[in-house]
Amino acid sequence: MKKILIALLVVAVAVASCIALIGCKDEEKKDEFIVATNAAFPPFEYKEGNKFVGVDMELAQKIADKLGKTLVVKDMEFDSVILSVASGESHVGMAGMTITDKRKETVDFCNPYYNASQMLIVPENDTTFDGLTTAAQIEEKLKSLSGVTIGVQRGTTGNYYVKGDADWGFDGFANVTCKEYDNGGLAVKDIQNGQCNYVVIDEMPAKQIVETSNIVNSSKKVKVISVPLTEEEYAFAVAKGNTELKNQINSIMEELKKDGTFQAILDKYFAAE
Ligand code: GLN
Repeated sequence: MKKILIALLVVAVAVASCIALIGCKDEEKKDEFIVATNAAFPPFEYKEGNKFVGVDMELAQKIADKLGKTLVVKDMEFDSVILSVASGESHVGMAGMTITDKRKETVDFCNPYYNASQMLIVPENDTTFDGLTTAAQIEEKLKSLSGVTIGVQRGTTGNYYVKGDADWGFDGFANVTCKEYDNGGLAVKDIQNGQCNYVVIDEMPAKQIVETSNIVNSSKKVKVISVPLTEEEYAFAVAKGNTELKNQINSIMEELKKDGTFQAILDKYFAAE
């Protein structure tokens, strides 16, 4: 009898501590501000050692501070960021993410905080686009080329721009092969290795990746064609219907703009420009 009682007691204690643990875990999650990103997109998000740095990452820290929460950054492939937010695994996607109608079907966007565009990266000695100054001229040129492979980062606007996608409003380029990479750095490396001809990616990452790639492989230099191919706006993404968090982030961003913090962060990361 005594043994049974002890056994019952042990089970009861075990169950109680399990419940307490689960409770704690939930509590913990409540105190966290979980950000989904793809830290291969300098100067918006990248890693210095183990540390997440870049414009979005600094803003993430400021927003977490103002919300009184602990910042947790989840680094993943870019095309997983939206899913992570939509499923509730993360609170917000902060990934240099362009607002698009297609994405609006899955997530809600906060107010835009940055204007961006796609740009072309080519080998330094490539003269194909010399003298072209508008998106229309470059697109006409791209349409006239054949046997050309353009690298992009999977799931990005650049990907749909090159491949062509009615949902995204892009015609694509019939004779161009679109090669998808995990990130822009790998795509540019493939230009240097002769595995693809050009890369299409967002302007600021294009400039930063070119700079780094030219240091890493200075015998196969690349350059950016400084003609904006698209007009895009970046915004942070929250789960559909999470108006509370969206409004909180919008008003914190307003504060950060008013008190100069936002500009200071941009200046810090765009100083090389
Ligand atoms: N701005 C692009 C997009 O939203 C690329 C973002 C990224 O690669 N992090 O698709």
